[in-house]
Amino acid sequence: MCGIVGYIGKRQASPILLDGLSRLEYRGYDSAGIALLNGSATVNIIKRAGRIDNLRAAVAEVSHQGATGIAHTRWATHGAPTDENAHPHRDQSGKLVLVHNGVIENYQTLRDQLTAKGHSFESQTDTEVLAHLVGTYFDASDETDGPTRLRSAVQAALGKVKGTYGIAVLHGDVPGVIVGARLGSPLVVGLGEGEHYLASDVSAIVAHTRDVVYLNDHDIVSLSNDRFDVASMAGGAAQVKVSRVEFSADDAEKGDFPHYMLKEIYEQPQSLRNAMRGRLSRDEGTAILGGLNMTPQELRGIDRIILSGCGTAFHAAMVGEYVIETLARIPTEVEIASEFRYRNVPADKNTLQFVLSQSGETIDTLAALREARRKGIRCLGIVNSVGSTIARESDGGCYIHAGPEIGVAATKTFTSTVTMVTLLGMLFGRIHHLSSADGLEMIDELEAIPDKITSILKQADKIKAIAEKHANAEGMLFMGRQANYPVAMEGALKMKEISYIYASGHPSAELKHGIIALVKPDMPSVFIAPDDAVFDKNVSNIEEVLARKGPVIAVTTEGRTELERLTKDVIYVPDCPSYLSPLLTVIPLQLFSYYTAVARGCDVDKPRNLAKSVTVE
Ligand code: GLU
Repeated sequence: MCGIVGYIGKRQASPILLDGLSRLEYRGYDSAGIALLNGSATVNIIKRAGRIDNLRAAVAEVSHQGATGIAHTRWATHGAPTDENAHPHRDQSGKLVLVHNGVIENYQTLRDQLTAKGHSFESQTDTEVLAHLVGTYFDASDETDGPTRLRSAVQAALGKVKGTYGIAVLHGDVPGVIVGARLGSPLVVGLGEGEHYLASDVSAIVAHTRDVVYLNDHDIVSLSNDRFDVASMAGGAAQVKVSRVEFSADDAEKGDFPHYMLKEIYEQPQSLRNAMRGRLSRDEGTAILGGLNMTPQELRGIDRIILSGCGTAFHAAMVGEYVIETLARIPTEVEIASEFRYRNVPADKNTLQFVLSQSGETIDTLAALREARRKGIRCLGIVNSVGSTIARESDGGCYIHAGPEIGVAATKTFTSTVTMVTLLGMLFGRIHHLSSADGLEMIDELEAIPDKITSILKQADKIKAIAEKHANAEGMLFMGRQANYPVAMEGALKMKEISYIYASGHPSAELKHGIIALVKPDMPSVFIAPDDAVFDKNVSNIEEVLARKGPVIAVTTEGRTELERLTKDVIYVPDCPSYLSPLLTVIPLQLFSYYTAVARGCDVDKPRNLAKSVTVE
């Protein structure tokens, strides 16, 4: 959601900034802009509503130069997505320029105060108010050193602000510096030779450098060609650690695939192997998860687990509840992360919480983590992005190592997160009542999953044909039982996200309790009905839908061919223990939503209104 890129060095900034913005495109945005400082006190701004290509075309028409610049993709919170509201914004003098991710909650009060002092505003945004506020401190300062003056002005203005921000600031009178600061919105500094970068997400700059410093909340940074200085506005020393980005720019390319989403669906055999690599011990018949930072004695004392996440991570958490309770018999609850801090969830000293987030920056999940830690609950992260805020602020945790996920609709990070909660189930199960022989059997089953996914992917043409047949459906229902109930919810979410067909996921038995009222010929029902203890129950529910002329698409286990008597649209997955079933049954649903969206001409990788990682509340 929204992005920042900054560059200061010797090269022309504009191609670097536009390329960086393109690499952030997947995060979701509605307008984009760029500011270039050309060394002669002039800051040129170009900004456009709509896609980055609009901005690129506008930049190509003029010949603004500059080896210092900041750029932004906006995801509107205050004011419509127009050219005027796009960032960068200027202060009253026109010389100070600022881009911002986040929300300034007290912007109206500040705007009124500034208006009373004669300021006039060109946009409806909260961000422009912040630019004006910084400008007032800059103009009033008698500091003679330009960079110090700009940095102090930023810090003074931020002291007056309530809300969240990641910002980058330039001033025409202070050519050799970019100032950045963060609170609640990620920012990372990229280190180069005689040049520096600033970005909201490493993928914007990884083509240029893999050496980065992740900023913490309350940090302020000044960048020049040859140095960067970080300080904490909260007092105390800033923690500055140079990290190496694990992936390269090539990992974030889509190769021969028409869409990132399809590429990422096909990456799942490998991403699952990466999630398990080094974490399964045949000697001990268990999972080894050193990142939890807990001794076996501490783990044994845990008698309740809370799993929190939003969206797809919430569905992975629901699978986790089933798997951990099945394997470890530890009561496990799922708390939707966006509600967690507004509830008052009881938790005793033996409760362990996990927060699940692909980006590690999801603001609601981060808030859940912080609330848990305020209450003294030990809280661990299960995240994909190395060095992200959740990874840094949690008491420990595990990376899922899925690599960059660019498609807005999460696919490989769902299966990798589910794999990780399954490893937790195995670990806790082994600590309690499972034998090493049980553990070994699970390892065999888990290690067989990637090849089984490959065999499902070979049915893509068949799934495509089924998708095309139902692409004009008015709505869709997804049904499953046990661990496949969250898979039904995930299948429905994928369908909504990328094809804009209204869909909902339910426990199959709930059909009779209300949903059946929706069944009709243009409302297909997708049943996840593998060969398990509730197969016959699912078949009865399929019959109930067919009796009311609702089309049925069934996902079942190879060999259960009897479903073909009921519907032509049957997709088979290989056999596996039921606690692993979600890792297989979700694959056809991902492909089904993908091909449905393609058949409907939807922009699969950039669905409307959606952002990849939700960093505003
Ligand atoms: N609140 C700001 C705006 O609406 C920033 C939004 C964003 O994070 O992109 O312009």
